[in-house]
Amino acid sequence: MINLKNLPVSVADKKVTVLGAKRSGLAAAVLLARQGASVLLSDSGKVEIPEDIQTDLVNNNVTIEIGGHSPAVLNSDLVVISPGIPKSAPIVKALESKSIPIVSEIEMAFWFMPEAKLIAVTGSNGKTTTTTLIHKLFKNTQYDVYCGGNIGISFSSLISEARQATGKPKVFVLEVSSFQLERIIHFHPNEAVILNVTDDHMDRYEHDINLYLQAKLNIIHNQNKNDRYIYFADDPLLQNSLPEQPHKLPFGITKNPDMRFTADDKNIYDSNNQVFIKRKDIALLGEHNLLNILAALNVVSGYGIPPAHIKHVLKQFSGIEHRLEYVTTIDGADYYNDSKATNVDSVKYALKSFSKPVIIILGGRDKDADFSTLLPLLKQHAKKAILIGETTAKISKIIKNEIDYTIAASMKDAVVEAKHIAQTGDVILLSPACASYDMFDNFEQRGKVFKEIVYSVSGIQ
Ligand code: ADP
Repeated sequence: MINLKNLPVSVADKKVTVLGAKRSGLAAAVLLARQGASVLLSDSGKVEIPEDIQTDLVNNNVTIEIGGHSPAVLNSDLVVISPGIPKSAPIVKALESKSIPIVSEIEMAFWFMPEAKLIAVTGSNGKTTTTTLIHKLFKNTQYDVYCGGNIGISFSSLISEARQATGKPKVFVLEVSSFQLERIIHFHPNEAVILNVTDDHMDRYEHDINLYLQAKLNIIHNQNKNDRYIYFADDPLLQNSLPEQPHKLPFGITKNPDMRFTADDKNIYDSNNQVFIKRKDIALLGEHNLLNILAALNVVSGYGIPPAHIKHVLKQFSGIEHRLEYVTTIDGADYYNDSKATNVDSVKYALKSFSKPVIIILGGRDKDADFSTLLPLLKQHAKKAILIGETTAKISKIIKNEIDYTIAASMKDAVVEAKHIAQTGDVILLSPACASYDMFDNFEQRGKVFKEIVYSVSGIQ
């Protein structure tokens, strides 16, 4: 048996299975093998492992099985599970019935973290933007910063990379999803950021927001007195469920004496109530991004990063592709790609970001969302909704008699229709409130297709 009670955990000569051979699973297998474990990488689906990674796995003596799990999985000392595999999967049930310990990839990677600071960001919305901003704030400073997790490079890969580096103090900045936080034992960030907790992934949490909240709150579960958590104080769900802790730092719009940074329409203020930066100088737009910035400022406070550097980053960083991304202007109407808005709450913030009339393209694969909560903001901002994808029937039932809408058979039809009705001063916004898998490979492809169509109807391409 393997001893997981105390750190450090040794996996040397242990039989460890990594379930799931996608990005994080592949890196986890290599990291474990380098720590002396005998590793089986097992995936029940059809996955293609890139050739260079396959070579790396073979060179590290990792056994690979694809297209099914062999009985050897049930003979493991430890299983490291990829975040995409739900609790209900038969293999998980079989492992649990044999009491084989299952941990998440971030938990395992944490065991092997070199001397470093760890910052982890979770929330229903804003994780990628905030994580990227924090990364930029630490870049080109006295720190050696590594960024990844749920975005880009897995924690295991970052650990493998950082273990070879020497020199400046290291900082890891991780985006962590509720799924990754589900099976942790020791994982605890020095700085935990909880941006918000709203209705998302209800299909994986038995339609119970409290189960989803509990998974998110795991981010602070193991924190000790030297760690801090930074949370959105205007979120009633969070306010009522967070434990009292000496090092908690609130951020939000409603002022609170414990806040280090506050904001109004014009400025962001520091703890002495002095103007830190004017809002007109900040490149990231939208009220939601103001919240993300406040969270990031709290994180970096206390790390001795020069304010001039922080201000420079805030003046430069204008956001990430597919998040309220300006595409172009055609005949006086602005086109925005917000394909990453895969839940209802992010669409609310998108709508609130515009004072101009919005033609919204909405719909996709349902995640059991409650679209009726969108109605007040749609009524306020949307001059028309164009519905696409599998949710057309569900959404049209809710908005009929309330919002002018039409149904489009494809993204192309939706954009053509939007252009047809758009007038000077309108905003055409793809902000679907749904997953993309009904029509696209992922939200990135959906956003790219949208932009290509917009460019083609504009005559730019
Ligand atoms: P995540 O990684 O959590 O999905 P992103 O930074 O990729 O978050 O943003 C996803 C969507 O959520 C974007 O469409 C954006 O408009 C919206 N959003 C970003 N930050 C916030 C926030 N703090 N609160 C609510 N919505 C947000």
